[in-house]
Amino acid sequence: MSELQPTRRAALVTGGGRGIGRAVCLALAAAGFDVAVNYAASAAAAEQTAADCRALGVQAVALQADVTDPAACQALVDTAAKTFGRLDVLVNNAGVTADKLILRMQEEDFDKVISANLKGAFFCCKAACKLMMRQRYGRIVNISSVVGLHGNAGQSNYAASKAGLIGLTKSLAKEFAARGVTVNAVAPGFIETDMTAAMPEAAKQAALASVPAGHTGAPEDVAAAVAFLAGESAAYITGQVLCVDGGMGM
Ligand code: NAP
Repeated sequence: MSELQPTRRAALVTGGGRGIGRAVCLALAAAGFDVAVNYAASAAAAEQTAADCRALGVQAVALQADVTDPAACQALVDTAAKTFGRLDVLVNNAGVTADKLILRMQEEDFDKVISANLKGAFFCCKAACKLMMRQRYGRIVNISSVVGLHGNAGQSNYAASKAGLIGLTKSLAKEFAARGVTVNAVAPGFIETDMTAAMPEAAKQAALASVPAGHTGAPEDVAAAVAFLAGESAAYITGQVLCVDGGMGM
C-alpha cells in the first residue's frame, strides 16, 4: 500500500531577491515550501536566493516581472503555479520609496509608489485569488508598514500606499474568508535593509529613538511573522495586521 504524501505547498514572493523578501523566501523554504522568487531588476540576487532555497531541499526558481504591469503579474502567477503545480502562498513584498515633503512631491513621485506598493499587490492578488479560491486553500500576506498605520512626515505617498494595503487586506479577507483563503498584513517597523540604508543619518536616529526595543529589526524578524501567517496552522487568522516593530507602533 502506498503511503499518503503530505501536500507539497508552493509560494510566490514578490521582490524576493533582496532584503525582507529574501529572508521571507528562505524562511518559507526552511518550512518546506517550494518558492518562486520574483524580481524586477536584481536578477543575480534573485538567482542567488533561489539557489539558497534549493540548498534547503525545496524547489525554487527566480522569475522576472515588474509588479506595476498587470499582464506581467498575471504571467508571474501563472508561471509560478505551472512550475510547482499549485500556488498556496502569495507574499506581496515588492516595495519602493520616493520620500519628499508634500510641497516638493510631484505627481510622478506619488504614482510611482502607489503603482509598485499598492497596485502591484492588487494585480498579484487578483491573479492568485482565482487559483486559491478554486483549490479552496490559500494564504496571502501583504507587507505593509508601521508608516501605513501612523503616517510619517516626508512619506505621504508611501504611507498612503501602505495604508491602502491594509484596506485591501481586510476587504479581500472578507471576500475569501469562507473559501479557505486567508489574507493578512505584516507591518514592519525599522528593519535593516537597502531601503533603510538609504535614509539620511538624522532620520535613522529619529526612527531608532522611537523604538522601545532600542534597536533595529532584521529581515528575519519579519520573515518569521510571514512564515507563521503563511502556515496551515494560521487558518483561523484573517484580516489582521501583525506589527513587527520592536514596539514602535504601540
Ligand atoms: P529593499 O531592500 O529596497 O527591496 C525592495 C524589493 O522590492 C527588491 O527585491 C526589489 O526588487 C523589489 N521591487 C521593487 N519594485 C519592484 C517592482 N516594480 N516589481 C517587482 N519587484 C520590485 O526593501 P526592503 O526593506 O526589503 O522592503 C521590502 C518590503 O518591506 C517593502 O514593501 C517595504 O515597503 C516594506 N517595509 C520595509 C521596512 C524597512 O524598514 N526596511 C519597513 C516597513 C515596510 P529589484 O531589486 O529586482 O527591483
